[in-house]
Parts: sequence; structure tokens; C-alpha cells
Amino acid sequence: MYGFGDLKIWNDLEIKSKLSWYYEVAMNKKPAKYLISRRIACDIDLKSTPINELWDCHEKLSDQFFDLWHNIKSGEIDIIDLQQPKISLMDLNVELVNRMLRSCNFCRWNCRVDRTLVDDDPSAKTGTCQLGEKSRVSSYFHHRGEELIFRGVLGSGTIFFTSCNLRCVFCQNGDISKDKDNGVVLTPSELSDVFILLREEGVHNINLVGGDPSVHLHTIINAINELDNHELRHINKIIKVKSDFYVSYPRSKQNSLYHNEFNVPILWNSNFFMSDQAFRILLTVVDVWLPDLKFHNKKCASRLSRTPWYFDTVSGFIKDLHDRGEDFSIRHLIMPNHLECCTFPILDWMTENIPRALINLMDQYHPDSYTNPNTREYNPRYKDINRKLNSNEINKVMKKADDNNINYKIITYN
Ligand code: SF4
Repeated sequence: MYGFGDLKIWNDLEIKSKLSWYYEVAMNKKPAKYLISRRIACDIDLKSTPINELWDCHEKLSDQFFDLWHNIKSGEIDIIDLQQPKISLMDLNVELVNRMLRSCNFCRWNCRVDRTLVDDDPSAKTGTCQLGEKSRVSSYFHHRGEELIFRGVLGSGTIFFTSCNLRCVFCQNGDISKDKDNGVVLTPSELSDVFILLREEGVHNINLVGGDPSVHLHTIINAINELDNHELRHINKIIKVKSDFYVSYPRSKQNSLYHNEFNVPILWNSNFFMSDQAFRILLTVVDVWLPDLKFHNKKCASRLSRTPWYFDTVSGFIKDLHDRGEDFSIRHLIMPNHLECCTFPILDWMTENIPRALINLMDQYHPDSYTNPNTREYNPRYKDINRKLNSNEINKVMKKADDNNINYKIITYN
């Protein structure tokens, strides 16, 4: 049967080499990073150790993780030859995110609120995302509209979490990002069942998105820690959230196994406005990254997303991914009247800092939320982006990308 590995896009050697880890995990030829993190022994008492010492330990174990990951990538070592320790780097990740939740610094806002108080006490202080401990999922399904490298032939297993840490006035997922109470509360255990169901139905990755996934870091890391070859425990509940439940995807354990262990690439589909600490944890569990890079200009980021420190934060993480040899592909949403201030400087930055990185230059911008003149929410302050792009703007961007030797065509047009 025609499958993911048969897609012609993998004949492009540059694409294949930049996404080689993701490809191998998707094909179950290599183990996902979380399976590697489970092989790194952690020999401190997690509950009694102060958080700064936990971070010191995390730094040390991350070094071991990267050494092991590189050896596994090159084929020198296989995880099947390694014992699973009683306490591992994954357990340390769980302990760290659970503690971070009590003084939340999952993202760059660094609100430092105790999110464990919020769900039961309406007067408790909330951060920018307004979330407590519970995570809600608005929907999940086999996404057939993502880039070909992600949607493959059976779709990208996409999970939409509610709420967000940005306030984009043009948000095209406003029903999810602006309504934190949308969707259904899923526990980590239920979420791990969603991962397993989707993968057994043949998806090529678990695509964590929102809103933004970073505000749900604790739920996601706990769910990943629960992934194993178990039978589904919550099918009656999770099936109600599955928006393509009416499509019959044959389930098979064989779709999901690396030497009898549950395996799936974790895809982080995010605005990248996360904290350094969140990034450190994610480096040990995320197999492929899909960052947005929206603005270059500070004033544009503040006015249109109410976000300070935008470009420095997001571009810093992207540069780090590039320098570390991680698998990633960027998305840039081209917006009308923002070529000179945002798109062109972003392309120049890419040429200078991350040459030949993969990017999807998205020309499908349409006015939404506060930028759509046909709605009551419309605010004329945003008239610069109250229309679609015209062909002249699109052509200018593609010409600039060509002049800059940007690697966009194969991702953008497939
Ligand atoms: S996730 Fe970000 S926005 Fe939400 S409370 Fe934590 S630091 Fe604040």
C-alpha cells in the first residue's frame, strides 16, 4: 500500500536530510525522543530536592541525553540494548513541570501565578493565559491540511488545546484561542489515550497546537510520560472530542511500535513564545518543531499581538534549533502592508542566521477577529490588515525569497 515513505517529497535530499530524525521516527525506524529520555537515569530524590538543584540535574542529564540521541541517530546504539532505570529524565521532566505550574513560567510572560489554585477559586490570580491546572481540548483529528511532510497520507494527529498566550487581533482560531472554556477537560491519562488512538489509526505525528501548547506544558509532559503500549482506558470519553469520528480509520498496533514500545514523533506546533525552561524540557521530548515567525518589527508585534519581546524571543529559539541540528520547518504568515517591516527583514534574518532552513511562506491571510470589516468586532485601528494579499504582494515576497536563496518552494507548494 502507498504510504508515508513513498511520498515523492522525500526524494528531495535537502528535505530528507533536514527532517531525517522526524522521518525515521514517523516510519518507526527510530525511537521518539521521549523513549530515549526514559533511558537516562536520574539518581536524585525528586520530591525532596529543591527546584534549582533539579534544574542543575536536568542540565547534566540533558547533556547525556544529547550524546545518546546522537549515537542513536548515527545507528551506533539502539535503545533496545539499554535498561530503563527506575527514575529517568522523563520523571524529572514531569517533576519540573508540576512544580513550575505552582509559579508558572511556561512562557515568556513569566506570570509566576499558582495555577493549581485557579480552577477551584474564582478569586485566585491568573496569568495572561487565564488558565488553571486543567487543560481543555477543543478537538483532535487526522489533519489533512497541514504541510505534506506532516499530513502525509493518513494525516497529522492534531490536537487543539484552548487558550493562548498571545492576543493576535487577526487570530484565525479565535474560537479556540480566545475562549479558554471551549472544548472538554482532558486529564494527562485521557490525553495519552488520544495520542495512542491517533497513532494506531496511522497518523504520522502527534501535532500539539492551540491556541498554543506551551500553556499546557504540564498536561502534555505528563501525558507523554504515560505513553506505552497500553489498551485505551478512556475511549468512551475521548471519542466524543474526535471531530473526524465518522471516518473509519482501521486501527493497528503495528502502526505505533518501535520494538514493541509505543512510538510516535512529537510535533511542537507553536508561536514559540515560551520560556527558556520550557524549551529545555521540550528539547528532550520534541522530535520535530513547527514554529510561527510572524513579526520582525517590535511595534507590529505589540500592536497586532500585544506581545513585547516578540522577535528576540522567537528568533532566539529558532536559531538555537538550527544550531543544534534539530528538525524544524517555519511558518510565516504574509500580511498585507507588512512586507517592508516584517516579511522582508525576516527573510534577511533567515539568510544570515539560518541559511536554507525550511519555511512555508503562507499567502492565505484573510481578515478575521478584530480585522474583518464585515463583523461587529472590527476595529478600524487595524485597517492595514483588513484585506487579503494581492498578487503583487505575493510576487514580491516570492522574488525576495528567491533572491535570498530561501528554501521555501517545496514546503510552500506541497
Ligand atoms: S503559561 Fe504563560 S501566560 Fe499562562 S500563566 Fe504561565 S507564564 Fe503566564
